[in-house]
Amino acid sequence: MSWHDARMTYDDQIDPTVPPSGPGCEECTASAGWWFHLRRCAACGHVGCCDSSPSQHASAHAASTRHRLVQSYEPGEEWFWDYQAQRYGAGIELAPPHHHPKDQPVPGPRGRVPEGWERQLQ
Ligand SMILES: [Zn+2]
Ligand SMILES: [Zn+2]
Repeated sequence: MSWHDARMTYDDQIDPTVPPSGPGCEECTASAGWWFHLRRCAACGHVGCCDSSPSQHASAHAASTRHRLVQSYEPGEEWFWDYQAQRYGAGIELAPPHHHPKDQPVPGPRGRVPEGWERQLQ
């Protein structure tokens, strides 16, 4: 698939005007959970935790909403992932910020990551 075709496929999957929902995973923040890495939904701005995190809220969001495209929400990472095709996707520049605050620890959030968290990764 060419880059142009990819962009056509994603036309209804990217809204570059929507800011991210917050600095951390939306569901983990609401449920006092913790995450490893963060992903941002390209369609609605939902910030969710990655598939290595205990709760995998980003892929759950993709499955329940059919929003297939996420961008990494980690500092220094710009790649997109297409959950439907299970491969890296083509994206465009989304509304800032493009990553969680740099002083936010990984895993996060501060004070809520348990001892031995490495053993709880998926
Ligand atoms: Zn989460
Ligand atoms: Zn979404």
